[in-house]
Amino acid sequence: MNQLKKVALITGGARGIGYAIAGELGSDGCCVIISDILSDLAGESAEKLSQTGAETFAVSGDVSKPADVDDMFDKAVGRFGKIDILVNNAGVARDALLLRLEEKDWDLVMNVNLKGAFLCTKVASRIMIKNRWGRIINISSIIGLIGNAGQANYAASKAGIIGLTKSSARELAGRNITVNAIAPGFIETEMTRKLPEAAREAYLASIPLRRPGTPRDVASIASFLASDKAEYITGQVIHCDGGLVM
Ligand code: NAD
Repeated sequence: MNQLKKVALITGGARGIGYAIAGELGSDGCCVIISDILSDLAGESAEKLSQTGAETFAVSGDVSKPADVDDMFDKAVGRFGKIDILVNNAGVARDALLLRLEEKDWDLVMNVNLKGAFLCTKVASRIMIKNRWGRIINISSIIGLIGNAGQANYAASKAGIIGLTKSSARELAGRNITVNAIAPGFIETEMTRKLPEAAREAYLASIPLRRPGTPRDVASIASFLASDKAEYITGQVIHCDGGLVM
């Protein structure tokens, strides 16, 4: 591998927004590690991406488990020697109104969406500090800013991501590591395909730009934040929502 190339690890990179970010960073010239709990799909997605000319590698693991996270980063560093860019994208939703929300679904969503980002940030930032360069991009959600009935667990995890982003941005700035978040609105992926038609229609009607977002819309922002053009931006939350939240 050319040592001048940046190395990016994307959690939940096997499909949806994560895969689009992997593709965008790959076309920017980065070596890309697709990490996902779906190991077969991670392998297939890495294979598909490598056909576009990107240098890619798949690792599987659950971001909420410290041993899996250590293993993912060990394998990634074993292959490419460093990590320059981390995208904390892995996420799940388990929606229910508060009074019916079960503790196990609270725990799962918090563990994957928030604890997972913390665990990956901790391991990645150690590696980045040694190289005195790093970019961490956290995928939050506009739901973390405005809340949503039926998504107390998801909203809390995504609001937590914003606190994690700002605190780690302050801690890591002196090490030349920037940490920013993207807050997507309604993006067409597996996650939103599960929404009931009425909820989908209501969402779409409230988007000023009058269309759902695509994974590519989010990936373009990740590409910018990972680039030298964004070197003076840290601790920010960039909305990608067609104007839904202003
Ligand atoms: P998706 O379900 O298509 O992708 C999520 C990926 O995360 C999947 O590949 C999944 O296997 C992986 N994953 C789930 N649990 C994991 C775990 N424990 N460890 C490792 N990987 C795991 O959904 P998406 O829409 O592409 O979502 C990507 C991110 O964007 C999520 O954090 C989501 O909350 C966020 N987001 C999505 C939308 C939207 O409208 N789709 C809006 C705002 C935020």
